[in-house]
This record gives sequence, C-alpha cells and structure tokens, in this order.
Amino acid sequence: MRETKKLTVVSGLAVFSAVLVTALISWVLYQHTVNILTINLKERLLGIVRTAAVEIDYRDLEVLKVEEDWKRPEWNKIVTKLRNVREANENVLFVYIFRKVKGSPEKLEFVSDSHSINPYAQIDLNHDQVIDDADLLQWPGQPYEDPPEEVWLGFEKPVTNNEVYHDQWGSEITGYAPIKDDNQNTVAVIAVDIKADDFSTLTRQTLYPFVLFIFGLIAIIFMLSFVIVHIYIMQIKLFAELDRQKDELIGLVSHQLAAPVSAVKWYVEMLLDGDLGKLNKEQSEQLQTVQKTAGSLSDLVSMILDVSRIQLGRMKIEKQELDMNEFFKEIFVVAEPRAAEKKIQFNKNLPSNLPKAMLDKRYTRMTVENLMTNAIKYTPDGGKVDVNVRIEGNFIFVSVKDTGCGIPVKDQKQIFGKMYRASNVRNSTIDGNGFGLYVAKGAVESQGGQIWFESAEGKGTTFYVKLPLK
Ligand code: ADP
Repeated sequence: MRETKKLTVVSGLAVFSAVLVTALISWVLYQHTVNILTINLKERLLGIVRTAAVEIDYRDLEVLKVEEDWKRPEWNKIVTKLRNVREANENVLFVYIFRKVKGSPEKLEFVSDSHSINPYAQIDLNHDQVIDDADLLQWPGQPYEDPPEEVWLGFEKPVTNNEVYHDQWGSEITGYAPIKDDNQNTVAVIAVDIKADDFSTLTRQTLYPFVLFIFGLIAIIFMLSFVIVHIYIMQIKLFAELDRQKDELIGLVSHQLAAPVSAVKWYVEMLLDGDLGKLNKEQSEQLQTVQKTAGSLSDLVSMILDVSRIQLGRMKIEKQELDMNEFFKEIFVVAEPRAAEKKIQFNKNLPSNLPKAMLDKRYTRMTVENLMTNAIKYTPDGGKVDVNVRIEGNFIFVSVKDTGCGIPVKDQKQIFGKMYRASNVRNSTIDGNGFGLYVAKGAVESQGGQIWFESAEGKGTTFYVKLPLK
C-alpha cells in the first residue's frame, strides 16, 4: 500500500510540474508574440513615416515661422499632404512636423499638423465630447515640449519608440523620419502616431487559442496520469493478491509435505536401528544416504513453510526458557564436523556459564545454526571461523566471523531478501537457495532482536545477532 501512496504523490507532482511548465511556456510564447507583433507594427510605421518624409518639400517649411504663417499657401499644401498620409493609412492618429528652434537648438517647435488647416477650428480632437485645452491645434512656431527620448533632431534614419505607450489618445507608437534639405542636412522631423489598441486585441486573439490548447493539453495529461496511476494501483493490488495466493499455496503444499517427509525419516531410522531385522553393511550405507537426503528435504520443507509464514505475517514465536549452554552445545555438534570436513579451524569463544533465556528454540537455533553453516559453506578449505558469544545487560550477542568469499558491496543491501544470493556465489558450485537469511531476519526481529553484518569481498564476513534474554 506504501507503493500506491508513493505513486499517487509522484503523479501529483508530475501533474503539478506539467502545469508549471505549460504556464511558463505560455508566458514565453506570449512575450514572443508581443515581440513579433511589435516588430511588424514598427516596420509598417517606418514605411509610412519614411514615405511621408520624402513627400515634404523642405522649402515649404522654411516660410512657416510664426503663427500668422498658417494663412500662407505653403501651410495649406503641407497640411493637405499630412492629412493625406493620415487618411491613406489605417489607424494613423496624428501626423505632424517639428524642428529645432533657430538660435535655441535645445528647444523644439511645431511646424505643422495634419488636423490644422485652420488652427482655430473648434474640433473635439480627443473625442471626449468636450472642446477644451486638450483639443488645441498647432500653428507654426508653437513650442513642442517633452519630446520622447528616442527622438532628437540630428538622427539620420527613421526610428520609432521602443515600446507601445499609453496616453489620452489610447495605446500608441510613434515613428519619426528626418526631413532633409538639398545638402542632406536634417531641417525638421515628421512624426506619425499610430494607434496600437488593435494590436493588443491581436495579441490576445493570437494567443487565446494557444492558451486554450495548452489548458486542453494539461487536462489530457491530468486525465492520462489519473488513468495510468489507476491502472498501476490496480495492478499492484492484483500482484499483491497473486503473491498472497502463491504464499498461501506454498504454505499449504509444504505443510502437506512435512508429515510424509517426517514419516520417511522415522521409518529409515527404525530400519537403521535394526528394529525390523539386522542390515548388512551395504544396506546400512544406502539407508544412511536416504536418511541424509530425507533430513535435507525435511529442512527445506520447514524453511519454505517459514518463508510463507513470514510473507503472510503469520510467523508464530513461541518463547520458552532455554538453557543457552545446552543450546550452543547442540549447534556445535552439527557445525563442528562440517568444519572438520573442510579442515576449517573452528574457534569458539563463549562464557563458561551462560544464563537462561526466553526465546523461541526452533527459530533461534535455525538462525544461529544458519550463520555457522553459512560461514563454513562460504569459506574455502583450510580457512577459519570464529564464534563469539557474550552477555551484555539483558542481551546476548552472537557473532560468527569467517575468512570466506565475502559479500560484494553491490549485493549487501539485498542480502536479507527472499531467495537472494550474492553475485559471487550465484553461479558457483556452492549449494544454496537464499531462504536462510530471510527467515533468520524475520525470526530475530520478531523476537525483538537485530541482525546485521560486515563483509569485504574475498576477505571474509562477520554476522552479528543481538537478542533479548527476557
Ligand atoms: P543460501 O542458501 O544461499 O546460503 P542464505 O539466505 O543463508 O542462503 O544466504 C543468502 C546469501 O548471502 C548467500 O547466497 C550468500 O551469497 C550470502 N552469504 C550468507 N552468508 C555468507 C557468508 N558467511 N559469506 C559469504 N556470503 C554469505
């Protein structure tokens, strides 16, 4: 079930990151769209202002100096041209000309404006239904204040504002082009204000379907993640159930096997004891082999039974008072001959008088015996095994140290896993099934103890067990 929780958290995080990433992409695309549209608008504006500048004859501007000059025919000519530019191009708000004031080059003045054939006409210039100062028209020589920073007389090529700006006329952008005399000196600047309100709408219109698509995508990702997680959870549950059924079956089979195997052992023992008549030498030897095999079979069956009990959470610990001196003696009877067979030096270091302990006899014996037989099994002929037992407070510590093949670092984490064998023994001739340590861990931990080890490949291994005495 921990797996399902983990899966839900992981998929939640995945959906959250997907939303974040798509939001980020949308923002980047929005900026990109705004940039592209701004560039297009600027290019269009530069085209308009460049053409308009060429239309203006600088000589007409030279005669327009003071307010009264609006009555001159040149004024009419210029204003008409400016008005033509305004009317010929979509969204153009204002077209006007300004220049440096003669003698005070730090000041600017208006020369002409597309709206002002008659500068005193009462026009509601800003369409606010009121005619006031904001609607004043221009005349020659009128001061032009606060020119935008991008523009100052003296620039050579047409330019525009960097950004769309907002004022009482709405969202706009302005383009400027120099008007030059015959010597290519800039004598005035023509400016064109273009409305950019549509531009914002255009940005939104371009982007909306995309943002909608992104949100659709998020919804699809969300639904897919949900479905995938759901399927995974169902599969995990199914596997868990199959696993449980398999353990149940293994438990049942090994339980059914235990009785006949014991019976075989018992009958063979009877035969060997001569209860059914004296055996000759050969018969006796053959029967001893059968007895050994039946013993191994019986051990394997009870080990498999233990594994399935642990898996199903049905391991039953039955604590009883154990004489630990007797306990170890019984184990050494089994281990020492095996060590001797391989000429392994088997050293025992334990207190002369061990206290009694409340432990499950079968499981504890199986654990300690397994550590010793493993040490002997994985140590080459002529090696050494040291068994140490000590009492500390309410605990008994057992360590089994060998000079064997060791456990590779990459396998160490899994070594207590069910049916796990380290890579250095997996394909060797050393027999094993990987049940022993799994059951040992279950047996020790369910008695309130701990089991751990230290190992260096090729040098040896030490297994430690700590168990409470009471
Ligand atoms: P097995 O039947 O394979 O011995 P165990 O569960 O007892 O199963 O041990 C699991 C694995 O741990 C072994 O296959 C072996 O790789 C490793 N192992 C256990 N004890 C030792 C040891 N004393 N020295 C080296 N490897 C060991």
